[in-house]
Amino acid sequence: MGETICTTCPYCGVGCGIKASLEGERSVRITGDPAHPANMGRLCSKGTHLAETVGLEGRLLQPMIGDEAVGWDTALDDVAARMRDTIKRYGPDAVAFYVSGQLLTEDYYVANKLLKGFVGTANIDTNSRLCMASAVAAHQRAFGEDIVPCSYADLDEADLILLVGSNTAWCHPVIWQRIEKARDENGTKLVVIDPRRTETAELADLHIPVTPDGDVALFNALLAAMAERGALDDAFLEQHCDVPSGFFDALEAGSHGIAPDVFARLAELIAGSPRMVTLFSQGANQSVCGTDKGNAIINLHLATGRINRPGAGPFSMTGQPNAMGGREVGGLASTLACHLGFSEAERAAVSEFWQAPGLCESPGLKAVDLFRAVHSGDIKFVWIMATNPAVSMPDAAFVRDALVKCPNVVVSDMIADTDTAKLAHVRLPAMGWGEKDGTVTNSERVISRQRAIFPPAGEARADWRIICDVARRLGHDEAFAFSGSADIFREYAAMTQLSADHGKLLDLTAWAECSDAAYAEMAPFQWGGRHPCAAGFPTPDGKAALVPVREPQPASRSSRYPLTLNTGRYRDQWHTMTRTGLSAKLSSHRREPKLEVSPADAAANGLTHGGFASVISAHGTSCYRVQVNEGQTDGQLFVPMHFTDANSGAGRTGKLIHPQTDPHSGQPGFKNVPVTIEAVQPEWRAFLLTRERAVPQVLYWASSRIETGWLTELAGFDTISLDELLPQGPRSEVNDMVRGMQRIAVFNDAGEPAALLYLTRTGVLPDRDWIVRQFANPQASIGELLAGRPATPTPDTGPTVCVCHDVGEATIVAAIDEGAEDVDAIGRVTCAGTNCGSCRPILSRLLEHQQSRLKEAAE
Ligand code: SF4
Repeated sequence: MGETICTTCPYCGVGCGIKASLEGERSVRITGDPAHPANMGRLCSKGTHLAETVGLEGRLLQPMIGDEAVGWDTALDDVAARMRDTIKRYGPDAVAFYVSGQLLTEDYYVANKLLKGFVGTANIDTNSRLCMASAVAAHQRAFGEDIVPCSYADLDEADLILLVGSNTAWCHPVIWQRIEKARDENGTKLVVIDPRRTETAELADLHIPVTPDGDVALFNALLAAMAERGALDDAFLEQHCDVPSGFFDALEAGSHGIAPDVFARLAELIAGSPRMVTLFSQGANQSVCGTDKGNAIINLHLATGRINRPGAGPFSMTGQPNAMGGREVGGLASTLACHLGFSEAERAAVSEFWQAPGLCESPGLKAVDLFRAVHSGDIKFVWIMATNPAVSMPDAAFVRDALVKCPNVVVSDMIADTDTAKLAHVRLPAMGWGEKDGTVTNSERVISRQRAIFPPAGEARADWRIICDVARRLGHDEAFAFSGSADIFREYAAMTQLSADHGKLLDLTAWAECSDAAYAEMAPFQWGGRHPCAAGFPTPDGKAALVPVREPQPASRSSRYPLTLNTGRYRDQWHTMTRTGLSAKLSSHRREPKLEVSPADAAANGLTHGGFASVISAHGTSCYRVQVNEGQTDGQLFVPMHFTDANSGAGRTGKLIHPQTDPHSGQPGFKNVPVTIEAVQPEWRAFLLTRERAVPQVLYWASSRIETGWLTELAGFDTISLDELLPQGPRSEVNDMVRGMQRIAVFNDAGEPAALLYLTRTGVLPDRDWIVRQFANPQASIGELLAGRPATPTPDTGPTVCVCHDVGEATIVAAIDEGAEDVDAIGRVTCAGTNCGSCRPILSRLLEHQQSRLKEAAE
């Protein structure tokens, strides 16, 4: 085994440390880093299977202008010429960057410096706008700075943890493991406040099924209840808070949808738990009232003194690995740099530090408005880095239209053919995880190094270098003459002196003079300490503000769209699946975009479990496989955010989402969209196994990775064109009249199956898992494959639950039947849940269901 390198996971905002041991040219063994404070050796399924996603498949390996591969000089000259020409003809505000929480802090720093300092526009925004901009705005209103006032260690010491709008077990799994440990060892109570009964909610001590966007009403009511019970911390309020007059009298009872007895239980828990952490995430932030939700949560913590001490604090979890680093350097259009704003004094300080007389004057356009300006033609040059807005933005069809109309679209990405890259005039190959070198900041302000493991793929370059090369071509040689990422980090660290000068807490000046060697060896460190506001809040009087917030007015609903759509993540996938979708293991958990719907709504709309349905909003229509789910509240639907045109026919969710945003943060409301549903009754259904990914032209398709190719689910109305669908080659075909099924095998030159198709109009399709395994087996019997089942039936292990050890549901249920009494016992018998632990919530649920079934059977 080769060198072992300590680096950081590229996915979520937990920011887990990784040990990467090189095993071959592009082969690496991944384990959790026991010395990293974020995870102490733990990893979730996405981190554990990272090694499966570092190949060259799908990579953009050369700069491209249109469809022509060009050299770097030609591409960079072209990008600089487009920028220069746009600025000259239309002014700096006709230029925009749309960047990403996947960039490293050093990339972010130079992108921000170029646009705000030297082009002279603040039209740089990041996809973090879609993720936690509301938490940023709430922090600024309450604390005077975008600062997370607590740390992961507070979860270990809390008596009570409230999760608001967070399916932590799926979306921040290592934090979930930490919460589970605190519950096991300290008896910490867990409350989940979420309209959905998620996997996390199922395991909580109390689930509060708040109405969509009812959080402000709920937290105001909780604050009023604490005031009534005398549970406010008057001394803390007096010494550390600015309280607007009449604040507590003005708290309104609103409609949060919680039954009085459940509300009373929650209030009792809070009043009796002086050490309380409220962890809030995208379910709170992705709302047209997300900032008010953040402040309603913070108000409760301030008023009860549950902040600035062990086991307490309002804790915003970021979605992406470096959303926080972007916030720090100023990657949002609404901040200038280093937590500074646009006041005259702050602008003067930044202008002098950068030696940038042409510094921008005011905040730029936030993501939704930025793409509106692209659409209207006000922005004529947009450079998109490491993100896929054609899928992920709300009203994504409008965003695509905007990019089609824009005369200059530049995309820097590691993937060649994302939905966004297909619309670019210039594509620049960026290094991916495992090639890049720099720093990231996680949700608790810990800065960690991301280190290169492999050489760059093809001609890929670091994002910071690409940006600096364009800046130099625009005439800004001196300001962008960085020798490497360490050089950029030193300048950024030195610049944080400005934030300290303006009363902010962000201060990295200890690193301003660090050597390249010290940067290379940097161990993870937390800026601001565990409770950065303990010595006073970063406001002129050192006090935090209680911000009066009101329940939002209910939006008027058209009777055409009577249902509410909520969106979110799958456990084993990340964003638009350009990387996690390459792992067969990660793809086995959920292979299709599923519409989760309550039994009553399914019945009322003629939907059946496993059938298909269209979801229709005022902005678009998408088609999903139906999953009837008793955890869904009537009137509310759930769909995943991950699917794109590259991996599905009609499963894109972004195009359904309205473009309404929070007035303070500009964050769109992904969680509460008016929609309707219609059953779709296809003429035929099928699944197809191929060695290369298929992109069929049919009503519904969704493809997912398997060990030796791709599995594509299909459904359609029209006659299926087998010649278009199947690769060339000799075929064997069985028409099974009894089962109403057609089964076709196509062979390659060596006589091995190159594709398998199973199609039916009326019948039941065979077990995919067995056929997928046979497709990877060179000894597989063609007769059995054409039969769709083994000649001698083998035990059905059921759908995969544990992707690390490939353990199916039936195996787990059998272990419970044979006496496994808890999740650890299931692990000892089957290995399930003993590696990354991401499936432990499902194991708990299976255990509970199966044990109650066994009990009923015994009675
Ligand atoms: Fe990566 Fe999982 Fe850790 Fe998030 S929780 S940083 S996805 S290993």
